[in-house]
Amino acid sequence: MNAVPIETVPIESHGVNAVPARFASVCLPVPVRTAFTYSVPEGLAAGLVPGRRVRVPFGPRTMAGWYVGPADPPEPADDGRRVEAKEIVALLDDGPLLPPELVGLARWIADVYACSWGEALSACVPGGVKSETAEATVNRARLAIPADEALQMAATMLEKHPKRARVLRVLAQHADGLAVRDLEKAALCGPSPVETLAKKGLLALEKSGLGLDPFDGAEPEPPAGVSLTAEQEHALGAVTAALDRGASAGFLLHGVTGSGKTEIYLRGIRRAVDAGRQAIVLVPEIALTPQTVARFRGWFPRVAVLHSALTDAERRRQWKEIRAGRADVVIGPRSAVFAPVPRLGLVVVDEEHEPSFKQQGTPRYHAVDVAAERTRRAGAVLLLGSATPSLESRHAADEGRLALLRLRSRAGAGTMPRVEIVDMVEEAHAVRRVTLLSRRLVQLMDQAFRGGKQALLLLNRRGFASAMFCGRCGGTLRCGRCSIAMTLHRSHGSVLCHHCGDERPVPSSCPECGGPGLTRLGTGTERLEETVRAVFPAVRLARMDSDSMHDRADYERVLGAFGRGELDVILGTQMIAKGLHFPGVTVVGVVSADLGLQVPDFRASERTYQLVAQVSGRAGRAEAPGRVVVQTLQPKHPALLRAAAHDDDGFARDELAERLKVGWPPFVKLVRAVVTARTDEAARARCAEVADGVREAIPPGGGSVLGPSPCAVRKVRDRCRWHAVVKAADSAVQHAATLRLARFAHRAGGTELTIDVDPVEMT
Ligand code: ADP
Ligand code: ZN
Repeated sequence: MNAVPIETVPIESHGVNAVPARFASVCLPVPVRTAFTYSVPEGLAAGLVPGRRVRVPFGPRTMAGWYVGPADPPEPADDGRRVEAKEIVALLDDGPLLPPELVGLARWIADVYACSWGEALSACVPGGVKSETAEATVNRARLAIPADEALQMAATMLEKHPKRARVLRVLAQHADGLAVRDLEKAALCGPSPVETLAKKGLLALEKSGLGLDPFDGAEPEPPAGVSLTAEQEHALGAVTAALDRGASAGFLLHGVTGSGKTEIYLRGIRRAVDAGRQAIVLVPEIALTPQTVARFRGWFPRVAVLHSALTDAERRRQWKEIRAGRADVVIGPRSAVFAPVPRLGLVVVDEEHEPSFKQQGTPRYHAVDVAAERTRRAGAVLLLGSATPSLESRHAADEGRLALLRLRSRAGAGTMPRVEIVDMVEEAHAVRRVTLLSRRLVQLMDQAFRGGKQALLLLNRRGFASAMFCGRCGGTLRCGRCSIAMTLHRSHGSVLCHHCGDERPVPSSCPECGGPGLTRLGTGTERLEETVRAVFPAVRLARMDSDSMHDRADYERVLGAFGRGELDVILGTQMIAKGLHFPGVTVVGVVSADLGLQVPDFRASERTYQLVAQVSGRAGRAEAPGRVVVQTLQPKHPALLRAAAHDDDGFARDELAERLKVGWPPFVKLVRAVVTARTDEAARARCAEVADGVREAIPPGGGSVLGPSPCAVRKVRDRCRWHAVVKAADSAVQHAATLRLARFAHRAGGTELTIDVDPVEMT
């Protein structure tokens, strides 16, 4: 085994090896940016195809890696002694998991996002597909005791075993049990609390392989058979012309909510499929609903859905079907951009502005940028769609890198809703107290309910109170491991850290000064629920946030009931803002538009604008006109005024001018380096070294480096955080800075360095 820089490894120059290679380049999923040379045993040479996984010795153990091509014999060591390459132990799978196209794309990812080629290759393939013993079943857990007993036990366990308490609490909400995977996610824990409770006989673990695919049940929805509007015709014409040319092209479909963008996607895909090519449709995970899938299934019989509820065996089977070209359309979240379709024709990215298209672990890729690169390589068409495009995409359209297609009005029934901004400072003066629901919003909800209509309320924070404050010492209750306030979750009787998930019983006195009683500050969805129930005692209501929604089935249950008119209101976090299409909704309330504006991130305005515009788009999707109330302490904030006026161009113009002036993307390219350490000083010192190092890589006039400075969230899980941010004038400088950063060790002296290229999170 010895290392060669990946830049020197040839790929795509050889399909099937003419002469069996004696040495192989193998990439391993370790954070070392080199390929390793192994020798090829006689019997294995014939099966070596780039993209195939192999088992190789690595250090004291063996590891699965990726064969990427032949290698030169190892160089002699410095003292002239011959270096023996270790042998490949075995070939894995029954062929290459990845086609050459994706092997090349992975190298591009490694290069751009400063990870190893092996890490990028591994990210291209979902976990279940790689597991050598793909399970046909999913482990499920259910309570072995009655739910009320479980809740009581949870309350008594909270002090000593918060994780076990959470597991019981989550299960108490699911009479049918829950996939262990989802349970652990919902309870913010690993396997051990679940196992402990199972040993104690409080819950039962069982295997289940049935009825887990929520998309199988969805009846295909036949095409609506609408005739396109002139704007739609024009947009579709541009897309199909590009498909017919067979060269790569990129489009930004900017259409207001309900303008018929999906009709364009479907018809564009039809054109690609008719030409014998496949399409990939990326949607934010939360918008991947049976309704969405049903619409695609109505048009195309062979639709594969890559989603998190699949068993490993199912995932593996789907992967093979997709590779064999037996799926015309693949729908999925971010990672579906790697679906190994053999003849890619079109990639659609719906809601392209969504931050969830950026991966937050290694490799930190952005699915929109990967889709752009993949379509470029494949001679395919990229179609980005949004009602509120990201400023990056708008700028790309301004510069002609994407062709802009506009849909300015709603298709079919439905007009844009009227949006009113309510000043909550004035409201508080008028009613002589701080309120959650303004009189105007209450009035509109009341009218809606009387007329048998429905409402959606957005409050982008869960819990009951966002902080607990001591009147005596003036302190706020903080997480011991993170530098943030603990949120009160009254229904759990606990305070919770939204960063690390640490949970404690509500203290009866201030832990700092012993002062009696803590005051609740701020608000959350739990409190909103209480308020709405108090104002409308007969209301049929569901809350949608990550405390109440644990798996896809929860989500479907609530949306199903809402669609059938069995609920009057859904209130929740941003979960409710995405893609919901319910004709009965005539009122939308944004309860506190300020939450997002306070975030110390240069995109705070853009995010708030998008959220308000998106959730407003849920109102008045049918004949009945919609009304939107935006409650805020900053009624003059430009993002809110523009959202209220449905003035997307105005917002983009002002915000782009501001970004240009201050020097933020899309006018500069960012690389963020985050250093964490046990002590603040260690993090600062290492971050200073890193910042100085990267400064040297920036040519005069090529950009600047901000920092080192403490991150906005200064400590998470006992790790102190500092960062430096490179503002590069162009991609070349950005890349040079990235390469320089990659020279610093990922781990050094107890510090850890994360490199984030084109970051979407700045906190
Ligand atoms: P978007 O994806 O932009 O939110 P959709 O494609 O879902 O919009 O369309 C919204 C609604 O309008 C759907 O019910 C769709 O069937 C309908 N629709 C789309 N295009 C037309 C059209 N040209 N004429 C009539 N109805 C249309
Ligand atoms: Zn914490």
